[in-house]
Amino acid sequence: MSLLPEILSRHKMVRKHYLSLQKGEECQVTYVWVNEDRQNLQSKTRTLYNEPAGIRDIPEWYATSADHTEVTLVPVRMFRDPFTLDPDKLVLCELVNSKHISKVNNRRSQCVTVMDEVKQFQPWFGMEQEYILFGLDGKQLGWSPEGNQLQRACSNAVGANKLCGRDISMCHCRACLYAGVKIFGSNAEDLWSQWEFQVGTCEGIEMGDHLWMARYILHRVCEDFEVVASLDVKPIKESLQSSGCHINFSTKEMRSEGGLQYIEEAIRNLSKHHSQHLIVYDANVGLDNKRRLTGKGCTSSFHHFSTAVACRNVSVRIPGHVSRMGCGYLEDRRPAANCDPYLVMRTLVETCLLGATDEDDEEV
Ligand code: ADP
Ligand code: MN
Ligand code: MN
Ligand code: MN
Repeated sequence: MSLLPEILSRHKMVRKHYLSLQKGEECQVTYVWVNEDRQNLQSKTRTLYNEPAGIRDIPEWYATSADHTEVTLVPVRMFRDPFTLDPDKLVLCELVNSKHISKVNNRRSQCVTVMDEVKQFQPWFGMEQEYILFGLDGKQLGWSPEGNQLQRACSNAVGANKLCGRDISMCHCRACLYAGVKIFGSNAEDLWSQWEFQVGTCEGIEMGDHLWMARYILHRVCEDFEVVASLDVKPIKESLQSSGCHINFSTKEMRSEGGLQYIEEAIRNLSKHHSQHLIVYDANVGLDNKRRLTGKGCTSSFHHFSTAVACRNVSVRIPGHVSRMGCGYLEDRRPAANCDPYLVMRTLVETCLLGATDEDDEEV
């Protein structure tokens, strides 16, 4: 049960006083990690008595996992804290079992290994995170009994009668920029209260780290607005619209003159491994994308691979400007909003650059 809105806004006002209290050299570091379900984030804060200059100055710490065993939080990337401001930090951590024998949550470290193997290609990524905002009552943000919230708006819409939640999108992007998360841009999406932000352009493992931190900051901003951001692919069953997390990808060769042939070669490889990609492109081994990729509402087919230039209901798109320039990047539109970027990037690179040979036996 949530507090009444007027009580919550009093909390926010009172909080200002305490956050303005003078403090010494101490630095509050919030450790952030991805839960074992690979969807939810967790965090806890501790005080350091000197401001860390880099990730190596931040000590490991501990947490308890769902099965009550102890796990070690190993800091991997440091950001500024946009909520309590400098010198406080947000630190993304990997989860490792306390004996350091096996990684509990090793998708990141496996991705690091693969990114090291393909370093010479200079792989760049950009991901487009879509999400839908809900009130604490569980209803879509801006819901009214007249029910215009299910009406299909159009992406990039402007106007209070066409969208809801711009404050949250704006504050989220600014908070990310303060933190040092590479926000590329943002826009209103097709559905009332549906938004998108893009993270990129990032090289290698940076992509996954920045996207997870951007998601963490989104949930924190939403706490302040007393709303909830859903990364479910289709939280509103009656609606055609769904949420994805397109991934844009290029190598040095693809970005250079004549790069289109390398883009086309990568797409040929992707076409041979469609089902292998779909089982790692959402949080539930393909089940979420089965709900999402229906071929309707600007999505492609779950069952068949497709590609085209400047066309949006395909698995993989070559943007129009890339085709005209003859070089650039490709866009894989299949990853779902709740995907794990480490898994998506790794599979993409394995198929496109490391010549994964096991082709699909049959269609999904
Ligand atoms: P869309 O037209 O599909 O909606 P967006 O403008 O939302 O595209 O997002 C574009 C994404 O492409 C951004 O995340 C950006 O970082 C990424 N991007 C741009 N250039 C490259 C590149 N050369 N390689 C990889 N990603 C790129
Ligand atoms: Mn986009
Ligand atoms: Mn979009
Ligand atoms: Mn896109």
